[in-house]
Amino acid sequence: MSELPTSAQVVVVGGGVMGASTAYHLAARGCRDVVLLESQPFFGQGATGKCAGGIRYQFSTTINIQLSQLSLPMLDRFEEEIGQAIGLRYDGYLLLATNENVVATFRRNVALQHSLGVATEWLNGMK
Ligand SMILES: Cc1cc2nc3c(=O)[nH]c(=O)nc-3n(C[C@H](O)[C@H](O)[C@H](O)COP(=O)(O)OP(=O)(O)OC[C@H]3O[C@@H](n4cnc5c(N)ncnc54)[C@H](O)[C@@H]3O)c2cc1C
Repeated sequence: MSELPTSAQVVVVGGGVMGASTAYHLAARGCRDVVLLESQPFFGQGATGKCAGGIRYQFSTTINIQLSQLSLPMLDRFEEEIGQAIGLRYDGYLLLATNENVVATFRRNVALQHSLGVATEWLNGMK
């Protein structure tokens, strides 16, 4: 017989970071009847288990920048809130533009990041 409940108020599909975070935040807001479904034997075996663990604001779309603005503060309080050390370090991100096309793309991205309040710095290494 399946151990899964036959119904739930909310069913979240996929036990990667997005599904786990969704289920956690629902529960934290009082929704106790949440089921998190994962097709693999363990959680975190998709992209979440493979990721390098880098965190940054330097993205090219509003939604990704805003996602970082909302989620990075949670990483600051993660150990206190969840009870698990995560070895958080702020080392910074250095993205290199190696041709004019990339320079143009980065210029657009930096303008977008600045418009959303991200303090990205443009460093010019050209002599
Ligand atoms: C090599 C690599 C390096 C990365 N490095 C970084 C990094 O440094 N910084 C960063 O921010 N991001 C990084 N990323 C991206 C980051 O890992 C992903 O954006 C993030 O993990 C996506 O999480 P997710 O929960 O959406 O997906 P996933 O972690 O893939 O979770 C989806 C889950 O859904 C399950 N699933 C799928 N279909 C079903 C179904 N029908 N029923 C039940 N379960 C299902 C899958 O088995 C999986 O466990 C990296 C990704 C990769 C691959």
